Amino acid sequence: MFTFERLYAEGHEEIVFFSDTTCNLKAIIAIHNTVLGPALGGTRMWPYGSEDEAIEDVLRLSKGMTYKAAVSGLNLGGGKAVIIGDPKKDKSEALFRSYGRYLESLNGRYITAEDVNIGVEDIEHVFTETTNVVGVAKMHGGSGNPSPYTARGVYRGMEAAAVKVFGERSLKDKTVSLQGAGSVGRFLGELLYESGAKVFVTDINETNIEKFKSLVPNAEVVGIDDIYDVDADIYAPCALGATVNDKTIDRLKCKIVCGAANNQLAEWRHGDILKEKNILYAPDYLINAGGLMNVSIEFEGWSDTKATRMVDTIFDTTLKIFKISDEQNIPVYKATDVLAESRIESIRKIQARYLGDTSHRFPGRKKR
Ligand code: NAD
Repeated sequence: MFTFERLYAEGHEEIVFFSDTTCNLKAIIAIHNTVLGPALGGTRMWPYGSEDEAIEDVLRLSKGMTYKAAVSGLNLGGGKAVIIGDPKKDKSEALFRSYGRYLESLNGRYITAEDVNIGVEDIEHVFTETTNVVGVAKMHGGSGNPSPYTARGVYRGMEAAAVKVFGERSLKDKTVSLQGAGSVGRFLGELLYESGAKVFVTDINETNIEKFKSLVPNAEVVGIDDIYDVDADIYAPCALGATVNDKTIDRLKCKIVCGAANNQLAEWRHGDILKEKNILYAPDYLINAGGLMNVSIEFEGWSDTKATRMVDTIFDTTLKIFKISDEQNIPVYKATDVLAESRIESIRKIQARYLGDTSHRFPGRKKR
């Protein structure tokens, strides 16, 4: 059951419940933190077993977005939304437009995007009613498919990890076991192939494996479960979360874990175990932030050059996190939180003084 105590326990600012019985809309938006800017995070649609389950999910996911935006250097806060419903039966134009009208009423405090079970066509309906949405089609000034940018960010994270582990940035002749030949996995595979790395790949979907092989001709396909036993330099989880767990961790022979999947560590203690085993873990929520960086610039006018430049900063930020991890002798996942929290705190402090009306400093631009 929702309580104010639960809201404040992890520092959330606001939770909003919207319903519209005319189109069966039941949406919950959680705004975790807006110190750095408006809260940005996708909307997911899911047939939750209970409202409590939906509330827990939205609170957890919105907090994650605060950390991701902060560590990525974005001037954005963290938020997330869930629509309770069955995506196969309950979607309609009216539902998404009604949702968009409610979003508009938040006056830009929360900006949404696609997430699980929400596609471009759903977002287009939301966009009809509010501009507080990113990830719209390129023809509407949007940024299109985020996956190439996510893959590029993961690749930059791998390069940073290679600097630390192998003493050089190049991934030439390195071996990578890649789990998941989907949208991100495919682009990552191409980048690795171009760099001269050797890829071992697995996927449950044969069609995706075939597509992958056409792009990465020297890729070696391995069984679904065999991916954890491959004697590769880098393990790149790009399919599911929680694949670094009690069952897999002793099987990993790699020196680096670096992939696109969210929440790769089943529990935090698996991050501690990786450190003990001398396996370098690239912080998942930073290195997979390329897609978020890409959509974040839609408001100022998207361009490939801007997006690429921003995604490339992941290399330096990853190195910075490894340094904090070494200096404070803490696992990488904790060092990532340290960097995110210290940025939010330092910006919170400079906002403490009243400096008069500064809106003239942003002529012609809506200050968010
Ligand atoms: P996707 O659905 O296009 O690809 C996932 C692939 O993993 C599919 O080909 C699927 O068949 C495969 N797969 C599923 N279960 C598997 C298993 N047990 N073993 C092997 N393969 C399996 O998704 P995506 O967009 O490529 O995203 C990949 C991961 O990265 C996801 O965890 C996603 O949450 C995360 N991520 C994606 C983006 C993005 O921009 N797309 C951004 C941040 C994080």
